[in-house]
Amino acid sequence: MDARRALPSVDSVLAALEGLPHALAVEVARAAVEEARATAAGGTAVDPEAVFADARRRAAELAGRLLQPVVNATGVLIHTNLGRVPLGPGTLAAVNRAAGGYSNLEYRLDEGRRGSRQDHAGALLARACGAEGALVVNNNAAAVLLVLGALARGREVVVSRGELVEIGGGFRVPEVMNESGARLVEVGTTNRTRLADYRRAMSPDVALVLKVHASNYRMVGFVESTPVADLATLGAPVVVDIGSGLLDETTPWLPRCPTWLRDEPGARQCLAAGAALVTFSGDKLLGGPQAGVIAGRADLLTTVARHPMARAVRADKMTLAALQEVALTYLSGDATELPLWRMATVPVEVLAERAAALATLIPGAKVVDTEAVAGGGSLPGLSIPSAGVALDVPDPDAALAALRTDGVVARVEDGAVVCDLRTVDPADDERLAAALRRCL
Ligand SMILES: *Cc1c(COP(=O)(O)O)cnc(C)c1O
Repeated sequence: MDARRALPSVDSVLAALEGLPHALAVEVARAAVEEARATAAGGTAVDPEAVFADARRRAAELAGRLLQPVVNATGVLIHTNLGRVPLGPGTLAAVNRAAGGYSNLEYRLDEGRRGSRQDHAGALLARACGAEGALVVNNNAAAVLLVLGALARGREVVVSRGELVEIGGGFRVPEVMNESGARLVEVGTTNRTRLADYRRAMSPDVALVLKVHASNYRMVGFVESTPVADLATLGAPVVVDIGSGLLDETTPWLPRCPTWLRDEPGARQCLAAGAALVTFSGDKLLGGPQAGVIAGRADLLTTVARHPMARAVRADKMTLAALQEVALTYLSGDATELPLWRMATVPVEVLAERAAALATLIPGAKVVDTEAVAGGGSLPGLSIPSAGVALDVPDPDAALAALRTDGVVARVEDGAVVCDLRTVDPADDERLAAALRRCL
């Protein structure tokens, strides 16, 4: 008998698939049946059950690639691959309000005429870091590119050789400079750049002095960099790409300043020291949505805002709504309700208690001390004491893969699967326990 006769029909396979829109399910069912038909045509018998199983596997693979929530058990607070930082209920409600209907995005309600989308979030962020003004764009890479293109195209920008960094995802300072049309003038050496090095490079052709926070690596030993206050004496406007968006080094929105933040530059301090502009991300230490912020001198911001590229990298209303809410939270003086700061500051004892409760639900699980990190290119080398559960399994990589199919991202340490609870929402503890039990 022809082996193809025993194959299930596309319709019967389709009927067994759940959860996908019809058109996608049809594609999956067809692909599974066609592959089986090809196998059968070669004379190999095909078990109809195997065709159903193959279709379900294909459907699961397709569903697994859709954007969906995951449990971040890596202990990396700002995890770029996992969407950087979560937004809290207050921020999400603001997005809902602004995006679920019309809004005064670019409209002055009091005057009944066109307004600017920089009037709300941008204005509040400026206030929060002591700047004359602020512009919000799509991300910090766009912020840097726009500032260079608008203020230094065809002219020179002086940068220390120690700050010609690659931030990740292809953001390399020399290449961004090149794209912007500005000419890079390197000064100093990899490990030491003094004010005199900058001074020698100054000429009427210099449009800006750029300082870039070496976010994702740390130099120790015989190193020297020039403080913003000294750079501000050079004459050209100083732009500081602080990267992660710590608004104020003294963290007045927290009960006390975390020690692991000690080397992170604050927007307020850079501006107070004489920076003309600072640029930073919205979704790193600011704890908001993906965005880039340019804060500082009003006259420079006017020039930047008029550049054609500003239109191409502008932020959308959902981002602006979220950012406005985040800015209001900072201005309220208490940012502990932002998930980033809540996760960053929860006492390690609280995490250890949660870990102990979790461990009782999972055979063989142990409570372990862990080290969480800020991540996202912030604060390399500085860790945050944390706690989690560890599971000794014969094949840790297979266990990690099994956890991923349950939407849990964990890590392997000393041959054990480790889940760090600092980055796990307590509401997800049950889900985490269930996933860990299943991977045993
Ligand atoms: C992260 C970072 C960037 C890029 O910011 P995005 O918001 O990811 O575009 C640029 N510069 C520095 C110093 C950074 O740390």
